Amino acid sequence: MRLLVVEDDVALGQILVRGLSEEGYAVDLSTGVVDARHNAQTHQYDSMVIDIGLPDGNGLDLCRSLRDEGDQTPILMLTARDGLSDKVGGLDAGADDYLTKPFDFPELTARVRALTRRPPQTHKTVLEAGELSLDPSSRRVWRGAIIVPLTAREFSLLEHIMRQPEATHTRTELLESVWDANYDGLSNVVDVHIANLRRKLEMPGSPPAIETVRGAGYRLHPDLIADTA
Ligand code: CA
Repeated sequence: MRLLVVEDDVALGQILVRGLSEEGYAVDLSTGVVDARHNAQTHQYDSMVIDIGLPDGNGLDLCRSLRDEGDQTPILMLTARDGLSDKVGGLDAGADDYLTKPFDFPELTARVRALTRRPPQTHKTVLEAGELSLDPSSRRVWRGAIIVPLTAREFSLLEHIMRQPEATHTRTELLESVWDANYDGLSNVVDVHIANLRRKLEMPGSPPAIETVRGAGYRLHPDLIADTA
């Protein structure tokens, strides 16, 4: 799950990025309208958090123009004032929800989680593949009846793969959707996380949950998908 945060207040922006990253989201930060538009055109986001007062424009206008261009990414507006006109304006502009500053971080993450779960018809409550189950709302994973403890990043990686169970996922795609644009660490980070996931999901007598497709990437083991069908 990848988010775009549009916030010009540097300190608040960093708090949002750090906090949401700890929740397992890949987070990009834009500090103005122009950069936000560029990011929105370059990447596919699962949700955007947009401040209204920005140095080079207005978050409401940004939201309206994204909607005019057919961008349906769920948007949470941040309003500095408790003014009713901002809230109404936000929803008029096509935002899905709004939050008044100052806000508690748990409140923000709850709203973002609700937005990224939409639309309900495409996001099943619990994802299943063979004996593997993943619950996005409680962020828990089971292999058989056993709960498998995963890190936030491992969970996001597995969730991404399980949402398109029959697809082969390239390293680039996984890096793009699970890590953010500023990630500049190890180039084999995806392979390392896949290896850790495999080890944690191991079950005696069963094939590895995730298999390597040589030269292409990774996918769920076909046996798991066949079990579900
Ligand atoms: Ca601002």
